[in-house]
Amino acid sequence: VAAQLRSSGLLQTQGLIGGKWTEAYDGKTIEVCNPATGDVIANVPCMGKRETADAISSAYDTFKSWSKFTATERSKCLRKWYDLLIAHKDELGKLITLEQGKPLKEAVGEVSYGASFIEFFAEEAKRVYGDVIPATLADRRIVVLKQPVGVVGAITPWNFPLAMITRKVGPALACGCTVVIKPSELTPLTALAAAELSLQAGIPPGAINVVMGNASDIGETLLESPQVRKITFTGSTAVGKKLMAGAAATVKKVSLELGGNAPCIVFDDADLDVAVKGSLAAKFRNSGQTCVCANRIIVQEGIYEKFLNAFSAAVRNLQVGNGFTEGVAQGPLINEAAVQKVEAFLQDATSKGAKIQLGGQRHSLGMTFYEPTVVSNVNSEMLLSREEVFGPVAPILCFKTEEEASCPFFVQYSGLAAYIFTNNVQRSWRVSEALEYGLVGVNEGLISTEVAPFGGVKQSGLGREGSKYGMDEYLEMKYVCLGNM
Ligand code: ADP
Repeated sequence: VAAQLRSSGLLQTQGLIGGKWTEAYDGKTIEVCNPATGDVIANVPCMGKRETADAISSAYDTFKSWSKFTATERSKCLRKWYDLLIAHKDELGKLITLEQGKPLKEAVGEVSYGASFIEFFAEEAKRVYGDVIPATLADRRIVVLKQPVGVVGAITPWNFPLAMITRKVGPALACGCTVVIKPSELTPLTALAAAELSLQAGIPPGAINVVMGNASDIGETLLESPQVRKITFTGSTAVGKKLMAGAAATVKKVSLELGGNAPCIVFDDADLDVAVKGSLAAKFRNSGQTCVCANRIIVQEGIYEKFLNAFSAAVRNLQVGNGFTEGVAQGPLINEAAVQKVEAFLQDATSKGAKIQLGGQRHSLGMTFYEPTVVSNVNSEMLLSREEVFGPVAPILCFKTEEEASCPFFVQYSGLAAYIFTNNVQRSWRVSEALEYGLVGVNEGLISTEVAPFGGVKQSGLGREGSKYGMDEYLEMKYVCLGNM
């Protein structure tokens, strides 16, 4: 696979600064490994403050010209980038499976999903409308302009190596901003391949820069620079809070997509098949490693037994293996720390009375493969209910009343995605309104799309990605008053 990628020019292993592929200035590198085999795929530069400062300068210089491109010109560049991403869908999918581990079908799906943000925002680039407001004085005219915020620092995680980048960079470039991307050190190769395609698409050198290496040095440099006007981040709540605090020194705009603790609520009146299929998808996509993954499956007592049996049977059918193997639905976890987290959460749960229905062990394949797991008798005291497990573990809780289910515990913390399964239309509306979450899936476990606003409330984040609202994050509003007209 690596050889095929190399021949198509998509295996880039250097950072990108001002359109030039660049090593770390001290020559240091880090290994990128295949989580399914442990093999080293490539070495990438371990960059830090100096490289980041140069990337910021290049983004700052390029902003002057890119922001002056007409909307149509920017739109055309983005559309070309989209076309190239789609033309290389299979190779990019393989690259994602190689460095991230997800099944190839899911990886190719991520390329389509990731590319869709570039297509969508290529179109939105043309719709950055200002406003004219009726003035309060006869000789005045009041105009509102929308202008790009400037240089954007984009810090992204490893669970969607392409899509987490495109949904930031798409709207940023569409608005006329330029970016410094810091992808996860675990999955930088997809970011670099996408950046290579952006150059081929005619997006000017310097509009997209990619640095990776020492995350906290890169983060600090982005935060401290007055030239960086915006930080957009997807990742853990802890790092998000640090970045928000750091952004205060220069009062940068901040968008954050942080952790969730998604409840998946199955009511007695749900269609059992729909509920099983939907919760399975919401829980086990990407081996449970997404911020919108169902973290707690809360089932009403009347349907509890039936659901538990049908859900466990469906989980038993999930095939675990190398993402390149046909038919595999569950790849490895990203690293050993992820497996240890799953083990610690399960240990905590069983010590407090939870029952393992299925799985609960490392998989016989070794490495970071873990058995798809179903746990019953879960209660609100267990880590499994309180925090994101970020792995293939489905905790099942039982509830009695709608009220109990729609105000789940820990309401004060996270609020990203929630799912409900019910055939009662009034209830679906009532509960959707009551849930303090940024996204609600009703009778559906997979709801992300480029056309809808994605984002959390409370400590799950700030701002929205995707949709027309995703543009606002990269725009400033300017009031121009024309007097003495
Ligand atoms: P995850 O648990 O998903 O890896 P993290 O929040 O640790 O979540 O990582 C998300 C992204 O944030 C990664 O690109 C990571 O390198 C980066 N990151 C981690 N710590 C810092 C930091 N102190 N400053 C800037 N970026 C950071």
